[in-house]
Amino acid sequence: MKILIVDDQTFIREAIKSELVGVDPLQSFIFFEADCGNSAIALLEQSTLNTEPEFDLIITDLKMENGDGLAIINYMATTKSKNIPLVIVSSSDQRTLDLIGNITNSFNLNLVGVFQKPLNVNEVLTLVKTKQFLAHEVPESKAEQTNCNSANIASLLNEDNLFLCYQPKVDIKSNKLIGFEVLSRLTIQGDGFIYPDKFIPLIEQAGLNCQFTRLVVDQAISHWQLFPALKQYGLSINISASDLLSEELINHLIAKHLAASDIQLMLELTESQHTINQERSLQAIAKLIINDIPISLDDFGKSYSTFDRLDSIPFEEIKIDKDFVSDLDFNLQHQAIVESTIALAKKLNVKVVAEGVETLGVLNRLQLLGCHTAQGYYFSPPIEGRYLMTWVNDYNQQGEVKNANH
Ligand code: C2E
Ligand code: CA
Ligand code: CA
Repeated sequence: MKILIVDDQTFIREAIKSELVGVDPLQSFIFFEADCGNSAIALLEQSTLNTEPEFDLIITDLKMENGDGLAIINYMATTKSKNIPLVIVSSSDQRTLDLIGNITNSFNLNLVGVFQKPLNVNEVLTLVKTKQFLAHEVPESKAEQTNCNSANIASLLNEDNLFLCYQPKVDIKSNKLIGFEVLSRLTIQGDGFIYPDKFIPLIEQAGLNCQFTRLVVDQAISHWQLFPALKQYGLSINISASDLLSEELINHLIAKHLAASDIQLMLELTESQHTINQERSLQAIAKLIINDIPISLDDFGKSYSTFDRLDSIPFEEIKIDKDFVSDLDFNLQHQAIVESTIALAKKLNVKVVAEGVETLGVLNRLQLLGCHTAQGYYFSPPIEGRYLMTWVNDYNQQGEVKNANH
């Protein structure tokens, strides 16, 4: 692992190096050092000329003479170094660190985090490992080249191109597996995934969302029926607010649920440009709930009007958006938002799921705050259907070993 450490104080560079080696003795580290921003930029320039891979990680101080941390950020934003995971360390107060984080994110850099001194090297390495897949540019897949666009989206929407992944939801107290969220990908001739950020807006624009949701529901339920061991776990499927406007789709969902009533189906509802509070949407929600299909309010906190929804709709659970969760142990504002959301949910008797849990630090904090359920890379990224049973068996076996050792 090639790491560039930038700090104007030699003893800090030395301390970071020896802690990294101490925390992960099996890793072979190659260290590069710079005592100011300008020297770091010179090293970055040099590395882009080489044919060798660039740095795997940059750890930089913020305040230095001869080019500070912001100069490095500016340089990285406009060059090939943009994808290198970046750790910023500073002795400024938390609000200043948050500001630096926002600036860095607005440049779309691969920011691991902005941390107060002294650096917790262990925490940083765990985070880097979850981000490392972004470190070097991934070659464009055939799917990306072929591109999915408004002209071909309709022809892409069929069972053969739809690829479902499943991400576990875990009970924080017991560590037991509770269920899975279905996350969709499209693929063209089995080569490379196209992700929802890209295809969902095209589907919505083309008015194909009901057709798409139907495909997802049918495929996911078939998967659960194929492996009866999965039936002890919940199956959460994303729907958009515009899906609620189709009576045909609602009837299809209810019929599917009736025919497979041993599957614990739940729908995660996200607001798109359509609002949920239209009479027709409310009626559809009521119809689903009356027919024993619970609804989860997704992306909680992202929309300004979310609180109205909690007042008027009996949601089974709310999912706190990952933007508030993933940096919970460092960001005091996010901590306050998550804490009050959990307190409110408790009063309303609604379960809370935190998505985007990437580290043990965040998980521990959520447990302290009284959150029930967690989902995120800390447990697993979304798992392809064909590997799901193996993953479940491995996870449960690890749990048994842990229990036996206690
Ligand atoms: P979402 O419902 O908020 O789903 C969570 C997203 O966070 C997923 O992205 C998931 O892969 C990602 N994620 C999970 N754990 C972590 C983590 O620890 N850290 C971080 N940074 N991210 C994490 P994905 O799969 O790209 O899906 C994006 C969105 O697309 C979903 O957001 C959902 O709103 C939508 N979507 C996905 N599948 C479907 C579908 O079948 N139907 C509908 N209507 N929407 C879907
Ligand atoms: Ca969701
Ligand atoms: Ca979300």
